[in-house]
Amino acid sequence: MKILVLNTGSSSVKYRVFECNGDTAEDLAQGLIERVGSKKADIKCACCLEHENGCAAQMIGTPGELDIPDHKAAINAICRILLDERCGIIQDLSEIAAIGHRVVHGGEDFSESTLITDDVISAIERCCKLAPLHNPPALQGIRACAEVFKNVPQIAVFDTAFHATLPPKAFRFPLPDSLYSEHGVRKYGFHGTSHRFVSAEAIKLLNKPVSDTRVITCHLGNGSSISAVKGGKCIETSMGLTPLGGVMMGTRPGDLDPYLPLFMIKELGMSVDDVDKTLNKQSGFLGVCGFNDVRDIEKRASEGDAKCQLALDMFAYRISAFVGSYAMIMGGCDAIVFTAGIGENNALMRKRILSNAGYLGCHLDEERNMRNETIITTDQSTCKAFVIRTNEELLIARDAAKVVQELAKSHTVPA
Ligand code: AMP
Repeated sequence: MKILVLNTGSSSVKYRVFECNGDTAEDLAQGLIERVGSKKADIKCACCLEHENGCAAQMIGTPGELDIPDHKAAINAICRILLDERCGIIQDLSEIAAIGHRVVHGGEDFSESTLITDDVISAIERCCKLAPLHNPPALQGIRACAEVFKNVPQIAVFDTAFHATLPPKAFRFPLPDSLYSEHGVRKYGFHGTSHRFVSAEAIKLLNKPVSDTRVITCHLGNGSSISAVKGGKCIETSMGLTPLGGVMMGTRPGDLDPYLPLFMIKELGMSVDDVDKTLNKQSGFLGVCGFNDVRDIEKRASEGDAKCQLALDMFAYRISAFVGSYAMIMGGCDAIVFTAGIGENNALMRKRILSNAGYLGCHLDEERNMRNETIITTDQSTCKAFVIRTNEELLIARDAAKVVQELAKSHTVPA
C-alpha cells in the first residue's frame, strides 16, 4: 500500500511516499515545498533528478517564484507532482492508502500512533500551547489533506509518544503539584520517533533479548536530545515540557539554572519576548561562538578560533554528562547510539563525547569512527557505540500502514 508521509511546518511541507508491504517499505518519492504562504515558494522534488525532461515540480511553475498561498495549495502541488506521468508515483489520489503526519506534541493523551478523528484533532489543538511553533502547522496540514484527499485515513505519529513510558519520578518536575495536576507541567520529551527508530535498530544489532538491553540514544542535530531506553522502553529523556531543555543545541541552551530567565527580566530589564528570543534563537552554539552549523564551527576551531573550540567542548561535555547519568540510572549500558546530522557525520564530535567512556567498557576504534561505520567501538568493548542513520519518515509510514491494516481487520475504515 502507498503511504504519504507529511511533515508540515509553518512555512514548509516535507513529503515522502513509501510502498509498504508487511515489514518492508520502498521509498518512492520525496520532496519539500518551502516558503508556503508566499508568492516566492520553492519546490524541490527528489525524483526530478532522474527525469531528462525536467523536474515534474517545474510544471507547477518556476521554482522560487511559485504562488503557494497556504498549506492546502502546498498539498495540491504535491498531489500534482505525484500524479504527473514523469514522476509516475500514482495515477489517482485514491491509490494513497493513508497519510501519516508528524505531530510534535501529543501531551499525555497519546502513547502510540493514532487514526485522526475529530477528538484527536481537539487533543492536538489542546497541545498547541505546549508546542506553539509545531502543532498549529501540523493541524493545517491535517485539515488541508482532509479537503484534498477526502476520506483517505490520516494517522498522527507523535514525537512525544515514545516517551510516554517515562515513570513519574522521571517525568515530574519538583514543583507544586497543581502545576502538574491542573496545568500539565511535566517532562514530555521530543524527537521520540527518531529515538524509537534508532533504539530498535540498535537492539537488533545487540542480538540479545530485548528485556536485557540498555541503550542510550543521542539524537544530535540542530536540535539535540538524549534518551535512555531500557528493555526497549524509554525511561528517561533530556528534553522537557518544551524542546528547549536538555543538552546544548544549535541555537538553544538546554538545561539552565531556572532562575536565569527571572534574572534576565528583573536585573537586566529584558522583556519576556526578548528572553524567549534569546533562549530559542540566540543561544547554544550560536550564542557561544556566533555560528550554529557545526561544520563551520569545526573548521574555525581547527584554524585556532578559541570561541569555536570552547563551543565544541561545551557540547561534548554536556552530552557525555547526560550519557554518564543515563548509564547510572539503567545500571549500565550496552550501546550508545549516535544519530541525526552531527551524530551521523561528525566523527571528531563522537570522539570528544566518548573520550572518557572507557570506564563503561566503551572503547572507540578510531578508524571505524573516521569511516562512519555502524559499529565504531573495538570488538572487545562490552558497551558498543553505533552510528545509525535515523529515518523518522519510514517509521511514520510503517505506523500509518499498521493502523490502516488494523482498521481494515476491524472493518472500521472510513468509507
Ligand atoms: P540536523 O538538524 O539533523 O539536520 O543536523 C544539523 C547539524 O548537523 C548541523 O550542525 C550540521 O553541521 C551537522 N551536519 C549535517 N551534515 C553534516 C556532515 N556531512 N558533516 C558534519 N556535520 C554535518
